[in-house]
This record gives sequence, structure tokens and C-alpha cells, in this order.
Amino acid sequence: MNKDLLSHYAQVTGEEAVEQLQQLAEPLKGAHIVHINSTRYGGGVAEILHSLIPLKKALGLDVTWEVITGEEEFFHVTKSMHNALQGFPTEIHPKGLKTYEETNAQEAERLRPLLEEADFVFIHDPQPAPLLQFISQKRGKWVWRCHIDLSRPQRFVWRYLRNVVVGYDASIFSMPDFTQPLPHPQYIIPPSIDPLTEKNRELSPKEVKDILKKFNINPDKPIVLQVSRFDRFKDPMGVVRAARLARKFAPLQLVLAGGGAADDPEGEMILNEVRGATMGDPDIHVLYLPPDAHITINALQRAAHVVLQKSIKEGFGLTVTEAMWKSKPVVGGDVGGIKIQVVNHHTGFLIHTPEGAALAIRYLLFYKDKREEMGKKAHQFVKDNFLITRHLRDYLSLLLALKLGAHERIELETWTG
Ligand code: UDP
Repeated sequence: MNKDLLSHYAQVTGEEAVEQLQQLAEPLKGAHIVHINSTRYGGGVAEILHSLIPLKKALGLDVTWEVITGEEEFFHVTKSMHNALQGFPTEIHPKGLKTYEETNAQEAERLRPLLEEADFVFIHDPQPAPLLQFISQKRGKWVWRCHIDLSRPQRFVWRYLRNVVVGYDASIFSMPDFTQPLPHPQYIIPPSIDPLTEKNRELSPKEVKDILKKFNINPDKPIVLQVSRFDRFKDPMGVVRAARLARKFAPLQLVLAGGGAADDPEGEMILNEVRGATMGDPDIHVLYLPPDAHITINALQRAAHVVLQKSIKEGFGLTVTEAMWKSKPVVGGDVGGIKIQVVNHHTGFLIHTPEGAALAIRYLLFYKDKREEMGKKAHQFVKDNFLITRHLRDYLSLLLALKLGAHERIELETWTG
């Protein structure tokens, strides 16, 4: 079964990539690794963990994934914190911070045996970051894995969070721009997609057609798509403006597809705003999807002519990777992780305004050959850089560095002898 799983990946990425993973995992066999985040469904972190964990298990590691829970107030304060860390002016009341700490103290009690015994603990994002403070008897190495754009945080909130994460043994960021002065080693590991999931596997033309039919989307009119949680940083209103500008020059329909995440209480408000602005417009489809709508998203990405990700802040943007994997050029905001995926004029266009996005959409709808050429490059770029096997290789290398005392250089020979 495990061998089977690995061999499926080998078919996509080549035998060598999988052999390398096996070699790196060998000295780590049996190590107990715990991942903690704050939602099992919705958003990029959960998406990654669903794939990463079975693969780590297939390589012989003992992996557990736990999700912290809390009251509504907890998720309100963590969302405000998330907004402030990504630079949005936000006030956070000391009472909210107390809830944040108390919830983590309670969760630390629930998870104590697991957290004390683990060899490696990966804490994803700020929500569960204070857990470490409540685990005095830790045995293993603790890593804070930050998925968000921390390049220009509101200083007051970063000062607070810095104190929370300063005691970790290491932290991981998705790109160098996001790192902050911290007294421990910081690693750069960009996220990835899993080519074998329902979200990314090949679909037949019929499967794609059926999904379009289900949502009353015209298969004969070019589709411009953005898939995202309804979140201000994804700028759905900017997407609507861009599509409305572009359609003056090229016929198109806009599909805005997304759902919520259990740890994001603001989605409904943003969704209502978008619905209000687009009601009665026959060429704008706003689809509110359940968390398991993977095939739907896959089909929409395959059916799209152009995929947008007009974010104004973006930790990474797995939706960009997913679309590029399906050979679509992406018109993306020139921010965060989008910048390391969209190579301007090669795998898509980096834009700053709805007007810029409209120009890029118009160009891509008009020049089919360019669109296809950029789509091909986009696919190859993901294959070379953003598949889960590369991600796992980085994680395994990091685990080895932590285990062996963070030597600057890792030499495979020294472990196999
Ligand atoms: N996603 C989904 N359903 C939705 C919206 C998004 O399954 O309704 C998925 C999307 O395909 C991607 C992930 O959630 O895999 C979003 O990750 P991304 O890094 O783009 O953004 P985040 O939500 O983490 O900010």
C-alpha cells in the first residue's frame, strides 16, 4: 500500500525524486512527528496537510495531525491577528489576547501527552503558536511554520507574537521576504500541490462539461475564474471590476468560486458584499462551495481560459499553483507568494490594479497561441518547483538538520554507512 502510494508519485515526478525521499527518510524512520493547525478543512494549510501526512507515513514516519478548537471569540481574535500580521490596520483588544492564550492553555492540557512525547512538533500559523509556552517538559524540537505574508506586519501585533514564537527551535517561512529577526534558525520552504488529489488529477472532458452544466455556466463563452475563500485580501471586488472592464473588449464570463474555512469568521460578510455587487449580472457566477468541492474546483480550473488571483496580500496562493498545473496562465497580484510563481510575461502576468488585470485578461483572451504557450510554461514551472515531492524533500532535510544539530551542509553518505 505504502509502496503503491510512492510509486504513483514516481509516475509523475520520476523515480529519482522518490528514491531521494526514501534516502532522506531512512535515518528518521519511527520518529514521531506532530502537526497542529486550526482547521481540518478550508484554506491552504489543511489542503497541504491532507497530502503531506499520508506521504510522510508512507516513508515510515509516525505522524499525527491534531486540530485545535476554540469558541467563536478565539477565531475572531486570531482572524484579526492574521489581518494585522498581513499589514491590515486592526485593533486587538487585550481581552481577545487573553482568550487566545486561555484557549491555547486548555488545548495544551488536552494535547499534553502527545506534545511532551513527540520528537518533532510543527505548529502551523499563529492560532496554536502559544501551545509551546504551556509545555514545560518538551522532549522534541518545535518548529513554527508560518504560512502568511509577514513582510509588513502591524508592529504591535508582531511584537506580541514574536514573544510567543521566540522560544521555538526553528521557524519556516514560504519566502525570504516574510522572515523577521528571530534568535533561531529560519528556513524557507515554499508550499506545494499534490498532483494526485481530486483537486489536481486529470479529468475527462465529460467530467468538466458536467460541472459547467451543473452551475449553468456557458461552455461556449470564455471563462475567467478566481477560486478563493471570500476574504478581503483576495480582493473579490477588484476581480469583478477587472472582469467588467475586460468584457468591454472581449466576451467573457466571470466565475468567482469559493467557500469558507472553519477558522475564518469573516467569509460571510465578504460573500454578501460580492453577491450584492453582482446580483442580476448573467455573466458573473458567484459560487459558494462546500469544503469538499475538489472536483468542482478542478473542473473549473480546467475549463477556464484565464485564471485570476488578484490578491493584495498572499502567503503563497495554492490556487495559483493549481491553475498553473492545469496549464493555465495566471493573472495575479504582484504580492507575496504569487511573485514566486507567476513569472511575469512567461507563466502569467503580475498586476497591481483591476485595470492592469483587465488588460492582461484581454490580451490572453485575444491571443490564443500566447495563452497556450504561457500555460505550458506554467505547468512545467510547477512540475519543477511546486509539487509535493519537493516540499517533502525540504521538510525531511529540515528534520535531519534539526536532528543532527543544524549543520550547514548535509552529506548523505554520513548517514548510510
Ligand atoms: N479551496 C477550496 N475551496 C474553496 C476555496 C479554496 O478547496 O472554496 C482550496 C483551494 O483550491 C486551495 C486552498 O483552498 O487549495 C486555498 O489555498 P491558498 O493558498 O490559495 O489560500 P488560503 O485560503 O490558504 O489563503
